Amino acid sequence: MGYNSTRFGRAFCVRYLILSDIHSNLEAYESCLGLASGLYEAVLCLGDLVGYGPDPNAIVEAVHPAAEVIIRGNHDKACSGITDAADFNPLARAATQWTRDQLTPENLARLRNLTEGPVKVDGFELVHGSPRDEDEYIIERLDALPAIEDASSPVVFFGHTHVQGGFVMEPGHKLEPIYAEHSGDGCVLVLSLKASSRYLINPGSVGQPRDRDWRAAFAILDSQKRRVEYYRTGYDVRATQAKMEKARLPEPLIARLQFGR
Ligand code: ZN
Repeated sequence: MGYNSTRFGRAFCVRYLILSDIHSNLEAYESCLGLASGLYEAVLCLGDLVGYGPDPNAIVEAVHPAAEVIIRGNHDKACSGITDAADFNPLARAATQWTRDQLTPENLARLRNLTEGPVKVDGFELVHGSPRDEDEYIIERLDALPAIEDASSPVVFFGHTHVQGGFVMEPGHKLEPIYAEHSGDGCVLVLSLKASSRYLINPGSVGQPRDRDWRAAFAILDSQKRRVEYYRTGYDVRATQAKMEKARLPEPLIARLQFGR
């Protein structure tokens, strides 16, 4: 499926807020929107709106109308009954069951109807896992190499691993990881996209980062300047954890939020 800005009725829509792996974390989501305020014209989401966190309905109701495109993630599929979560670990499965019980029929239907990646927007490709397989994890160079070669666009945005950064392949060079510094709140890296290079870009996870930084992560794509800005922003993690305790979600899922892993 392909989209371009004129289809959104905004011919000059050039700055996209790119969110992934929000995982029912309302405090983290609101912190991202606060930092990004005024810096974007449209929202693109790479999947996993729900699962793990305490606010599945609030997140679906906030993000669904706000985003131009939402790719479905493996947790969206499991929580809405498209898949059965059999391949999830016991903690993720418990959170999936809790999430299913919480979701309203309307929000279950919204999740069930999310788009399968890849989706193209303005020539950029959006996926949850990888261009080859929506559920595949791109963690190491070995995973990234076939993914970058298979992609139908030179620039792919992916999520699923909850690790901000990605990979770049310049002509005549090896594939290299992209590291975003963990330097606190605000813009942590600006990446200028070269026309001759190929990229896999992970904005990081809004609601459950796993790159040893607890701050919510996101990216902004400036499609006209061909530039990606990576951001981190702190949020009230204690408030999210308190909601999870009240909901009796599994303790390790509560603890991991403050460590970013
Ligand atoms: Zn996820």
